[in-house]
Amino acid sequence: MMKKTTGIHHITAIVGNPQENVDFYAGVLGLRLVKKTVNFDDPGTYHLYFGNEQGSPGTIITFFPWPDAYQGRIGSGQVGVTTYVVPVGSLAFWEERLNKFQIEFTKYTRFGETYLEFDDPHGLHLEIVEREEGQDSEWSFGGVPAQHAIKGFGGAVLLSANPLETMKVLTEVMGLERIGEEDDFVRFRAAGDMGNIIDVKKTAIPGRMGVGTVHHIAWRADDYEDHEAWREHVSQHGQQVTPIIDRQYFNAIYFREPGAILFEIATDPPGFLHNEPFEQLGEKLLLPPWLEPKRAELESILLPAEVRVLEVDK
Ligand code: ZN
Repeated sequence: MMKKTTGIHHITAIVGNPQENVDFYAGVLGLRLVKKTVNFDDPGTYHLYFGNEQGSPGTIITFFPWPDAYQGRIGSGQVGVTTYVVPVGSLAFWEERLNKFQIEFTKYTRFGETYLEFDDPHGLHLEIVEREEGQDSEWSFGGVPAQHAIKGFGGAVLLSANPLETMKVLTEVMGLERIGEEDDFVRFRAAGDMGNIIDVKKTAIPGRMGVGTVHHIAWRADDYEDHEAWREHVSQHGQQVTPIIDRQYFNAIYFREPGAILFEIATDPPGFLHNEPFEQLGEKLLLPPWLEPKRAELESILLPAEVRVLEVDK
């Protein structure tokens, strides 16, 4: 059985203060906060989801903001860089925008493409690249017009504790195609048109989980049936995979690939519109039914996390 993922479904990271997180991803990067909920395993912590106007698979970055947690170290066993893709002709807009917010960036070339690389307020490495591929976002917010808005993920740079084995998993299990090699990077392409370009770096220092690091990367499964087939497929390739877990906005399975990166496979359905209308996505704190009785208590614990137009944009 040969299976091919279309690319990244979502990326989940650990950050610090939630308002700083919202101000950066909504206020500076112009993404839409599509869901504000809590970490079901640790309900005193938010789980914040940002994406395009409806949080399409391939656009979603999710965060556990832990203001008091230790700073992590980006390194092997993690996603090293999260790559965002913008429409062709938009890089100058983003250079100007990063300058306006006094965010330091470096501009460099990899595989013939120009990237702006910068850090979020908690140390996550991000980069922006222009590509034709992928549907434009329809979301305009706080000085980011839809024509220049982030479409979603271009892909990611993976830092592996065992690059050869990680590359084998990408091609033999996830169904990516190896398409190039340059300096310290090997490039892979998934079947979709977004979140589809994965670069594996051949060397990395060991990482340490904490604030400013990616917790896991999730790959797309088309639907529930496909998801069950993925579980079977991953297991047949010798990976220790979890049972299917209902994450409310998608079903998930997890396995730690041999390079120590936590991989998830997540279903496209049901998505973020099933329990909130499009117009109100992300506006109020959504709790699963079993936590509703604790709403008042949780709201008193959780720090503010409101989407706002930043001062410099007014
Ligand atoms: Zn996940």
